[in-house]
Amino acid sequence: MGENTVSLNDKIARLRGIFIEQLPGRMTEARRLFDILQTDPSAAEAAGSLHRYLHNTKGTGASFGFLELSVLSGKGEDLAKTILESPGSLTSESWQQLGECLTDMERVLEQAALQGDNPPAHTEQNLIFEIPPPNHTPDESSNERLIYICDDEILTAEQLGAQLQCFGYQTMLFNNTADLRAAVLAKQPAAVIMDIVFPEGKSEGTNVLANLRRIHGIQFPAIFVSARRDFDARLRAIQAGGEAYFPKPVSALELVASLDFLTRHSEPESFRVLVVDDEPEIAQYHALILENAGMVTRTTHVLETVLDVVGEFKPDLVLMDMYMPRCSGHDIAKLIRQVPDYIGLPIVFLSSETDPQKQFSAMRVGVEGFLTKPIEPGYLVTSVALRAERMRVLRSLMMRDSLTGLFNHTAITQFLDSAIVRARRQDHAVCFAMIDVDRFKSVNDNYGHPVGDQVLLALARVLQQRLRDTDLVGRYGGEEFAVIMHDVTLEKAEQTIQQLREDFSKVLFHSGDVDFSCSFSCGVAAFPQLKCVETLIEAADKAMYQAKHSGRNRVVVYAA
Ligand code: GH3
Ligand code: MG
Ligand code: MG
Repeated sequence: MGENTVSLNDKIARLRGIFIEQLPGRMTEARRLFDILQTDPSAAEAAGSLHRYLHNTKGTGASFGFLELSVLSGKGEDLAKTILESPGSLTSESWQQLGECLTDMERVLEQAALQGDNPPAHTEQNLIFEIPPPNHTPDESSNERLIYICDDEILTAEQLGAQLQCFGYQTMLFNNTADLRAAVLAKQPAAVIMDIVFPEGKSEGTNVLANLRRIHGIQFPAIFVSARRDFDARLRAIQAGGEAYFPKPVSALELVASLDFLTRHSEPESFRVLVVDDEPEIAQYHALILENAGMVTRTTHVLETVLDVVGEFKPDLVLMDMYMPRCSGHDIAKLIRQVPDYIGLPIVFLSSETDPQKQFSAMRVGVEGFLTKPIEPGYLVTSVALRAERMRVLRSLMMRDSLTGLFNHTAITQFLDSAIVRARRQDHAVCFAMIDVDRFKSVNDNYGHPVGDQVLLALARVLQQRLRDTDLVGRYGGEEFAVIMHDVTLEKAEQTIQQLREDFSKVLFHSGDVDFSCSFSCGVAAFPQLKCVETLIEAADKAMYQAKHSGRNRVVVYAA
């Protein structure tokens, strides 16, 4: 605890200080607007400003612990809303109430000033909110990728082992639980994959696991695989402490995804949250809470630049205020949604708007939720994390190919679209490469479809590992892959792919006693030589076929 908590509270106290400093000036401004409106109730701009001022003070005041001020602002806000929405309809009684509201607020402020610089303190639990830092210390022994596979069907185990190796895992196979047990005692693996039922009968996989954990105190993630799909088997695996369960036949990709998750040592990438609020202090206040929970944040109150900030910061979620000068959060959300790339970006309103009707109509822009200020910090963190996480999973499922985990056809074509739009604007090149495995049909025919799948997985991994983070790799079709490379010359792109081609042709595949290798042919074309997406794809495709016709296992650059 300690330090972290203090520094967070200090930061929040500073933001609160700024808010306090600004209050008298704001109050004077509110009074001025009120006077204008009394002489001319149809002064729309003044009505808008007064409403926004009172609305903001309600939300920010409550967030910073000025509850009385917040309640008074809320009352005033409702009256100001009436002036704003139907000028001239406010009764003289209501005018008087609004005036009294302002007077009461001024009184609260004065009292606060008399009490020194420390007006009504906000509740402690509102402030102290801390997530302990991850306490992982990296493992020196090199078992980080060591996986034990235990299955009496040794063929299945071998196949699985071979596929895991394509993903950089080291595997050791055991066909009985006694050997597995001895191996775990000798050297602890990163994870164990095991069948539930063994012909040995009494020593089932679940028992072995329980025994190693309980008696020897050895902890490692365990994944069960089984031919059984029934509830009973799954339940037993859970009760034995299995972290995952895969019915056979096991999809290597799903298993790898699970292994990657269970054996990863780094924290998952932090969620990135953009906080949009016209009040910089409240934006920073919310950002601080999220950062304290390990998220990466950016705040903005300059609405004109919001699209640029989204494009550059690439948030997983936008936290959006509702009432802002010039336009509403509703407008900004709509504006973001109109950019095709951001259709999937979750937007959550965080506003002191408590009118369910207003909340509902705001939600109709297609936002993910509506949170109300003031918000309990823990609740804010959970709400944001859950939505960001769900969106990440959904987006990844929608965009990824299930065998290789690469971007699917739709995703990669969309990326090419936006890559070209950006390249046009920034005046740089985009290279597009089409890759097709050579004589792949005969791999399937000779060694079977599962072995063919292994070849595709290996190629996917080679492409993914060797290309830059900024390059995009997709599975374009059955045994066709596509690569988008930003801001490189055609020569450089060709060189890179030549290297990949050589690397891939050296990968050895095994099937029974036979070792074999594969190759691919590739066609490359570039924007701006090719002016649009369609012609670019067509050109890369043509070049690829030329590579096939001139002997395969080569890269051909498109020449008009
Ligand atoms: P070429 O060198 O001319 O490209 O010959 P090829 O045999 O690679 O080309 P062809 O297009 O005739 O065959 C592609 C084969 O890829 C046919 C199809 O069964 C196989 N294939 C497509 N998707 C998959 C897959 O997901 N897994 C496996 N194992 N095979 C696949
Ligand atoms: Mg082919
Ligand atoms: Mg093909």
